[in-house]
Amino acid sequence: MIVVVGLIIAFVLVLILSNRRTRACRWRADRRQDREGESCFNCMTCGAQVFTSTGKPPLDCVANTPKS
Ligand SMILES: [Zn+2]
Repeated sequence: MIVVVGLIIAFVLVLILSNRRTRACRWRADRRQDREGESCFNCMTCGAQVFTSTGKPPLDCVANTPKS
């Protein structure tokens, strides 16, 4: 029983830590890869690459989000 509780606590801790890592995403503009009307941003933390139409970096990290 104690083992199960420990596993749950560890799982919650992992979720919290991964959320913190997401917030720590640092986006850097890559103008060489800009598209028509879209700006390219690379995440320095997890290596994700995103295109936005607003010219601003994305608010969230997309590294763990399934691509559509
Ligand atoms: Zn990231």
